[in-house]
Amino acid sequence: MSAKKLDVKKLILIIIACLAIIGIVGKTWAYVDNQKKVKAEQLKIEEEKKKAEEEKKKYTVGVSHEGKKYTYDAKVIADKLKKYDYSNGGKKIVFLTFDDGTSTTNTPKVLDILRKEGVKATFFLTGSNIDNGGQRARDLIKQEFEEGHAIGNHGYSHDCHKLYPNRVLDIDAFKADFKKNDELLRDVLGKYFSTRLIRCPGGYMSWKGMEPLDEYLAKKKMISMDWTSLSADAEGPRKNAQQLANYAIQTSKGKEIVVLLMHDTYGKEETVKSLPAIIQYFKDNGYEFKTLS
Ligand SMILES: [Zn+2]
Repeated sequence: MSAKKLDVKKLILIIIACLAIIGIVGKTWAYVDNQKKVKAEQLKIEEEKKKAEEEKKKYTVGVSHEGKKYTYDAKVIADKLKKYDYSNGGKKIVFLTFDDGTSTTNTPKVLDILRKEGVKATFFLTGSNIDNGGQRARDLIKQEFEEGHAIGNHGYSHDCHKLYPNRVLDIDAFKADFKKNDELLRDVLGKYFSTRLIRCPGGYMSWKGMEPLDEYLAKKKMISMDWTSLSADAEGPRKNAQQLANYAIQTSKGKEIVVLLMHDTYGKEETVKSLPAIIQYFKDNGYEFKTLS
């Protein structure tokens, strides 16, 4: 074997070795690069998660961060109402509740009075009225939420013939109607908004065959809230502001827990006018104003 041939062999071996090294280095490089990318991706996901958590922290169920200060566990109140137990160990609490909003005429006035009086309320909103009120109605809901009031779901249509044909619950129609309103509320208040609180149109107590709703609410950890007292602004003959206030006071007497039913929808101008006297009564009688969520 000549020396020249040997050199060629050596050269080839060296070239092969070099190629192998280049290959390994290249692969390692690609691997490191890829790891970097994966890490960056993970960091991004973590960051997004953190941001979402922060966003979520601004809300609790049915109330804004601000609203947490004024709210009370609706489950405790609902359980007491089921047993017609309005006692609270000597401590008086009132929950002002407004159904069927939002209206662009009366809701702003209700909000003004509540702000002036420094008290908070719970609004059970009706989706069809929100849609009728357009952007103004949507802005009012945001205002309610941001000012610390609580938001409950009163369904979309408020169509009792559809929800309870022949006075018997149609659970599928009911679920669809409330889901539609829930989606609308989320569209207005943001995707992290949720409320576990509902009020049945006409009140839970008014209808038959409600067992499927009990099961559904229990499964979903949701709460249906009726009332202990009312100003009767949607019942019987039309009343003026003074008569409404009298009715509210009369039906609240002797109760340490008061959930007062009122309406802030269209045509409820007298309700607006009755509000200062109603609030004054509860202030004078040592009630604390809370929201339900
Ligand atoms: Zn209603």
